Amino acid sequence: MTKVIDVYIDGGFRQSCASESIPITNPANQEVLVNAPYTTMDEIDQAVAAAKTAFYDWRKVPASERARLLMIYQAKLKENQDTIAEILCQETGKTFADAQGDVWRGIEVVEQACNIPSLMMGETAENVARGIDTYSLIQPIGVCVGITPFNFPAMIPLWMFPLAIACGNTFVLKPSEQDPMTPNKLVELFYECGFPKDLVQLVHGGKEQVDALITHKDTRAISFVGSVPVGQHVYRLATENLKRVQCMAGAKNHMVVMPDADKEQTISALVGASVGAAGQRCMAISVAVFVGEAKAWIPDVKEALAKVRPGAWDDDGAGYGPQISTAARDRILGYIEKGKEEGATCQLDGSDCTVENLPDGNWIGPTFFSDVNVDMSIYKEEIFGPVLVAVNSDSLEGAIELINDNPFGNGVSIFTSSGGAARKFQSDIEVGQVGINIPIPVPLPFFSFTGWKNSFYGDHHPYGKQAVRFYTETKTITARWFSSDAAVSNNMTIALK
Ligand code: NAD
Repeated sequence: MTKVIDVYIDGGFRQSCASESIPITNPANQEVLVNAPYTTMDEIDQAVAAAKTAFYDWRKVPASERARLLMIYQAKLKENQDTIAEILCQETGKTFADAQGDVWRGIEVVEQACNIPSLMMGETAENVARGIDTYSLIQPIGVCVGITPFNFPAMIPLWMFPLAIACGNTFVLKPSEQDPMTPNKLVELFYECGFPKDLVQLVHGGKEQVDALITHKDTRAISFVGSVPVGQHVYRLATENLKRVQCMAGAKNHMVVMPDADKEQTISALVGASVGAAGQRCMAISVAVFVGEAKAWIPDVKEALAKVRPGAWDDDGAGYGPQISTAARDRILGYIEKGKEEGATCQLDGSDCTVENLPDGNWIGPTFFSDVNVDMSIYKEEIFGPVLVAVNSDSLEGAIELINDNPFGNGVSIFTSSGGAARKFQSDIEVGQVGINIPIPVPLPFFSFTGWKNSFYGDHHPYGKQAVRFYTETKTITARWFSSDAAVSNNMTIALK
């Protein structure tokens, strides 16, 4: 019988009492690796209660001690980077190098969390009135919740719980039900570092478990990463329940190709950013906007894409792995068909893709459409697969207008050798993360991950200083200490005297 993966609830890892579970399959061959339980509602209550109890002690632990434990966690993750990456490869099908990158970008956030003492410093003003000082304390808020997607099972949980814990909170993580083994490993390693029990609870499941965590009276802040429809649902449900919430959602990211760009560099960047990770990145480039004469490069883009082939995680020659599920593959194949029906020119069709010795994998080859217009569904909707679409624009201004009209705002990129064009672009574009000759501008964690428009719902973004604000409250203290000769007089006004 297939093993059911553990949950971590109230004191340790254990088997859930759930009667239902979901099989986790290797997307390269459909082998069932493990089952993930649909954590019961009683267990959700136990997890939140245990996190709430743990909070009362943890919040009093000095920030420098919390940071020291996180330094141990950072080192442990580094030591185990390849082990985590191998688990990740089994359940996602990612290539080994890509999986290592997934873990590494999470480790970088843990490094940033180690800086927590200076990030939680308040402000002080002496003599705001005579003999009166005001200062602020930055304090944790309590039990925080993380709901994560399938596409970065190491990095995205690590965007969330290490910083929340660094700030003095406790955490309940509900990772994607499609690849829960990697998050389990992250939590297992966390508890090997000497952290007190119950700081991080780990539950599995889907909508029912997510909704229960959001509406639970004792959860304070909800971090979500996933698709737009689910992000909108989470944002609405969380705000209706008066919770603090940040939702990082779907995307359609453009790369503007100017005719003065370095041709070879541009095409190579476009290939990696569009079909790398099987297009399953929220910052993948899914639209290339060729400005003016740059459209003459379309045959070269096709040729470069045609050289990339998907394959197994340990195949050094593979550019990327399979789609996460047969349902995801079928959805993407549907878009490819729609693109053809809608009249786009299919330069390269990856629908009929096979990989030697892995006949059952969810493979899709690199796919490239040109002559795409903004009314086509392959332009309007997030495909989340190795499909690049090309649109043309007569001018930089036209490209900027096109992108600003798009409802998503996660990432965008311009390739050019003109400083003037790049500066205009960075200033006028209505997208939250801009790359200049950088195809996937995911900021390092001393900045924040600043998606805009339909790619983000909330106020404070993940990691960086904004995440510290998200996971904390500010308390402002106004204080006076009387000297023995201070005059006594009634103050009948609100003025500080
Ligand atoms: P998803 O929305 O299907 O699932 C995300 C999480 O929500 C999972 O934990 C899932 O169990 C839960 N969930 C699913 N349906 C739900 C429902 N009806 N109610 C409540 N919870 C539900 O997303 P996915 O397919 O796992 O991930 C891919 C999506 O995530 C893409 O759209 C991608 O662009 C987006 N993404 C965004 C970012 C970002 O930072 N903006 C980063 C990574 C991925």
